[in-house]
Amino acid sequence: MFDVRVRTTERLSPSFLRVTFTGADLERFADNGYDQRIKLILPLEEHGLSPMPKGPDWYQRWRELPGELRNPIRTLTVRLARPHLREVDVDIALHEDDGHGGPMARWAPTVQPGAPAILFGPNAGFDGPNAGMAFRPDAENGPVLLAGDETAVPAIASVLERLPAGCTGEALMEVPYDSDALDILTPSRVKITWLARSGARRGSLLHPAVVAAADRLLPPLSANDSVEDVDVNDLWEVPEDERPPGPLYAWLAGEAAVIKGLRRHLVADRGMDRRAVAFMGYWREGRSEQD
Ligand SMILES: Cc1cc2nc3c(=O)[nH]c(=O)nc-3n(C[C@H](O)[C@H](O)[C@H](O)COP(=O)(O)OP(=O)(O)OC[C@H]3O[C@@H](n4cnc5c(N)ncnc54)[C@H](O)[C@@H]3O)c2cc1C
Repeated sequence: MFDVRVRTTERLSPSFLRVTFTGADLERFADNGYDQRIKLILPLEEHGLSPMPKGPDWYQRWRELPGELRNPIRTLTVRLARPHLREVDVDIALHEDDGHGGPMARWAPTVQPGAPAILFGPNAGFDGPNAGMAFRPDAENGPVLLAGDETAVPAIASVLERLPAGCTGEALMEVPYDSDALDILTPSRVKITWLARSGARRGSLLHPAVVAAADRLLPPLSANDSVEDVDVNDLWEVPEDERPPGPLYAWLAGEAAVIKGLRRHLVADRGMDRRAVAFMGYWREGRSEQD
């Protein structure tokens, strides 16, 4: 756990806020890139961060606290880590405030430099395997298909920045508005497409775009190919095989129902091996992360 404070905030576009954290210990934060996930632990209005348990059994002790003493914990992606400057950036997708936004949605738009928080993230001094990354670097020669909504943009951007020059494929990102298309530089040959919802239903642009990309990136299914069924109750499956089998590696993240539909298409309709498809429900419509 890293004790941090907000150094700066920057509104990147209508829907993205970059928060830069700083903290004395961040020089030990591991700069792993790709889709490294972390936990952001937020202060409580009355008690700040003081009730937050620390130590190896922190999670169990946190769960046992009464609700009013339980600091909200939300999952984010490291957008950029600069351990030498003791800085970590995260990009937060600001959801339109319909009155149901959770603790992170309420915290982000008004947070000021100096505000305290805790990051639970990778420690460069740990010599075991890295936890919290789903993208398989063994897939980095491609072709890859990266697809997601605005909550997956930070992860897709970080993956794209680290892909090697020879990697091919497509990255599809559905965001609320045209002006949410951010500048992403990739050394790879992966084609980047932004899809602006502009008020349309969530997933209504991403789903057909993934279907069309699959047409371009996958060989046609022959009559003899068998297709796997998928469990529609799954929210998350990250293959752990050494090398993903098959002609394409797909990485899908965003609202759970939309992402399940994409995975179903690739595995059940298009015959992709499920070990070559990482899919992650990053959030669920109508459900808090703590539900
Ligand atoms: C591995 C991983 C990495 C992630 N990386 C990022 C990241 O880098 N940036 C980022 O912004 N998010 C990211 N997310 C998603 C983020 O954790 C969720 O959106 C989280 O639920 C937001 O917390 P909250 O307190 O605002 O809302 P919650 O208390 O969790 O939920 C309250 C309500 O808000 C709704 N809601 C939650 N998120 C959204 C949304 N984005 N749009 C509309 N409604 C929403 C819920 O359905 C619920 O009704 C990531 C999630 C995972 C699992």
